[in-house]
Amino acid sequence: MVAQEKIDLLRRKIEEADAIVVGGASGMSAASGFKFYYQDDEVYRMIAGSLADKYKVYNFFDAFYCPKMTSGEKWALMLRLNKYIYDCYTGENYKDLAELLEGKNYYIATTNQDTQFYRVFPADKVTPIQGDWRYWQCDEPCHDKVYYNKEKVFELVNYIENDRLPNKFIPRCPHCGGEMAPWVRSYTFLQGSFYRKELKRYTDFLQKNSRKKTLFLELGVGMMTPMFIKEPFMNMVYQWPNAFYVTINPQHAYIPKEIAKKSLAIEEDIALTLKQLLGKPTDKLEPFDRKNIFNPSRVY
Ligand SMILES: [Zn+2]
Repeated sequence: MVAQEKIDLLRRKIEEADAIVVGGASGMSAASGFKFYYQDDEVYRMIAGSLADKYKVYNFFDAFYCPKMTSGEKWALMLRLNKYIYDCYTGENYKDLAELLEGKNYYIATTNQDTQFYRVFPADKVTPIQGDWRYWQCDEPCHDKVYYNKEKVFELVNYIENDRLPNKFIPRCPHCGGEMAPWVRSYTFLQGSFYRKELKRYTDFLQKNSRKKTLFLELGVGMMTPMFIKEPFMNMVYQWPNAFYVTINPQHAYIPKEIAKKSLAIEEDIALTLKQLLGKPTDKLEPFDRKNIFNPSRVY
């Protein structure tokens, strides 16, 4: 359990804040039960099928970045993930966070590509810094456009044979004929007009609230890509006169000494912390297994 004084302080900070900037990362989804990105479980096996043993890759990201996989196999993997993202349940953490922020002036920046934030928050209050699986782009990319893929995903997933999408079904760019790719961070990630529009909403919100009493609430951000959420949050808290920083993370609740007086670290499970904040029972939560959560160096 989180110490009551920390819960009380965070609750007060949320109540008093003129603006709340939420930074949500993989820990939010992991604490909602979506662990297959980094761990071997039933969902991962459903997505990878025989490719797991064939390439000895035992979590989604290892499979996704496996250089030996053929294009057809990679597409089978990506389509099944995509379908799962459209079909799966809404994480309990996300619902609790929505309840906590109801009626507040808030904005969410996330490195998650799993679109869970869109289940409970309006799209114009969320910016996906690392892209979003619901869109495809040209892998080159030869032109500045992203394509909403739901219909195609549900169609193409039916054509997978032996954990491979036959070549003739691989989505192709309407301009150059090259392969399409998911609109998620990679060497060819398209940071075009769609991305810039997403980013502008976020920076506008930041600019508008830089002199106000602003709470930066960081949820499940690790040390793999701190440059997207963690470091900007720390910098803004350092520079903004009325900002306050809260990090909730069972492994990386770290605070630099320069902002220690304007910060609170909660080194606990996010699910548990949100329940406590809302005054909800915590006895039904699965016990948090600190030893068996995914490799901290892989957290982002
Ligand atoms: Zn193209």
